[in-house]
This record gives sequence, C-alpha cells and structure tokens, in this order.
Amino acid sequence: MKNSRRKALSHVRRALDFASEIYSSDPETARKAVRLAMKISQKKRLRLPTELRRRFCRKCATPFTGPSTFSVRVRQRRSPHVVVRCRVCGHTRRYLVK
Ligand SMILES: [Zn+2]
Repeated sequence: MKNSRRKALSHVRRALDFASEIYSSDPETARKAVRLAMKISQKKRLRLPTELRRRFCRKCATPFTGPSTFSVRVRQRRSPHVVVRCRVCGHTRRYLVK
C-alpha cells in the first residue's frame, strides 16, 4: 500500500515535470499531463508535497513554468502571505508565509 503510493507520487512528479517541459511548445498536451497528475493524486488520495501543489493551476491545469503563466505578489497586511495568480484563467491562490 505504502509502496504503491510512492509509485503514484513519482508518476505525478514525472507528469508535472513533463508538463512544464513541453508547455511552451504544446500547452494542450501539457494541460492534459497536469490533469492526469491531479487525477492520479485524487484517486490514490495522495497529499502532494507543497512544492508540487504550487506548480500548476488547479482550475485550468496550466503548469506554472515562468512569468508568462503566473505572477506572485507578497502581501504584508495582517499575516504575511503570497498571492499566486494564474495568468491563463485568472485564478488566484494565497499562501501563508511562515
Ligand atoms: Zn488557471
């Protein structure tokens, strides 16, 4: 059981690596790869490590590969957090900074 989760996680990681690699030349396939990665992690109920979760947009499945795909702003009001905005669909997510 534990072993199959580890395998699934490495599959997810590979799919995301692949997605960021090909995004500039083939965004559609890249999004398919991200959706596949999300599907695997849901099916196996994986908790993705933070670095993986922040590598794509949960809404439109765009891999965050560079300044053309996302923007980051740091906000200091109340508790410090960063706001990551997807430039493709406009979806934003906030992360607390510790
Ligand atoms: Zn998006």
